[in-house]
Amino acid sequence: MTIPAPLNPRERLLMGPGPSTVPRRILSAMGASTLGHLDPQYIEYMDETCQMIREVYQTENALTFPVSGTGMAGMEAVVVNLVEPGDEVIVCINGVFGGRMKDNLERAGATVHTVEVPWGETFSDDAIAEAVEQYPKSKMLGIVHAETSTGALQELRGISQIVHQAGMLFAVDTVTSLGGHEVKVDDWQIDAVYSGTQKCLSCPPGLSPVSFSPRAIERMEARKTKVQSWYLDVSMLKNYYMGSGGRAYHHTAPINMVYALRESLRIVLEEGLENRFSRHQEMHQLLRAGLESLGLQYIPKESLYTLNCVSVPHEVDEAKIRSKLLQDYDIEIGGGLGVFAGKAWRIGLMGHSATRRNVGTLLTALKDCLG
Ligand SMILES: *Cc1c(COP(=O)(O)O)cnc(C)c1O
Repeated sequence: MTIPAPLNPRERLLMGPGPSTVPRRILSAMGASTLGHLDPQYIEYMDETCQMIREVYQTENALTFPVSGTGMAGMEAVVVNLVEPGDEVIVCINGVFGGRMKDNLERAGATVHTVEVPWGETFSDDAIAEAVEQYPKSKMLGIVHAETSTGALQELRGISQIVHQAGMLFAVDTVTSLGGHEVKVDDWQIDAVYSGTQKCLSCPPGLSPVSFSPRAIERMEARKTKVQSWYLDVSMLKNYYMGSGGRAYHHTAPINMVYALRESLRIVLEEGLENRFSRHQEMHQLLRAGLESLGLQYIPKESLYTLNCVSVPHEVDEAKIRSKLLQDYDIEIGGGLGVFAGKAWRIGLMGHSATRRNVGTLLTALKDCLG
């Protein structure tokens, strides 16, 4: 064969539902020398990374580490470790990712009860209280904090109380919120949480930071059956990530991806969590004012800062505009997913992408494209 030309990816402005634009600092960190996964120097980098994940999740949970794999691997890790075949669970579905949680749980052998509201809407405390009353034997309730398919932000505090009063574990998807919206794992008493690197942490995709509360650990320790996924079995993984004496080899950690995550977390903490959330809020307000002045309407009532989902006017060919933005302006935005396919645009303001300059650039380009 003819050997392909060297890589030369364009420098796109990534303003879709993820990945977001990756800062040069992180790409450079990824290029540092690969160490062995049991090298004491690497173990130190890894421990520092886990500690920074705790800071960003605002938790003291000892069992906090990056799962090897993207956000979906984190979802799967939470599901397979906390659920045994035959367990009843409740899942809240208001978009694509709640639906995926259900699919994951069913594959793990759970009996899944669903609470659903129309896409774009969020769950009230009352709706959750009703579900918990209707399915009292459920062991866990799963919900998405930031539903990337609709742009809706879910309030969690009240729900958490209701779920715990019923003796259930509370599992939350924070893939599109961590690093952009406040996520307080300890305060909100979240028992199992997962995220991804390529959204508001602005790191390339490849790891999924997860954290489990002591209550979740109790549940895992009381299991009667083995976790059916060997790769994601936390009872083995913790001997590598958390081992106090030596570290036991489980699988080779993605060393250079951990370098990238470590650098991205350093950037998040240098900025400061509060500053970071305010920046996302401000950029969202700026973008929102611009989109609305172009006549575009937001779909969700409670919009995320990090993902802006707007309806596309009937007369507009949404795919054509997106492709023009990409080809002519090097800007990526997302189309609608599921019930919103062909009907919505999803504009990400995640991490490094959430700047005044990018908001201005996108609004100008979009205005040009819409004529
Ligand atoms: C992106 C996303 C995921 C899946 O993450 P991957 O990194 O694509 O595997 C899960 N949940 C939500 C809410 C997401 O936005």
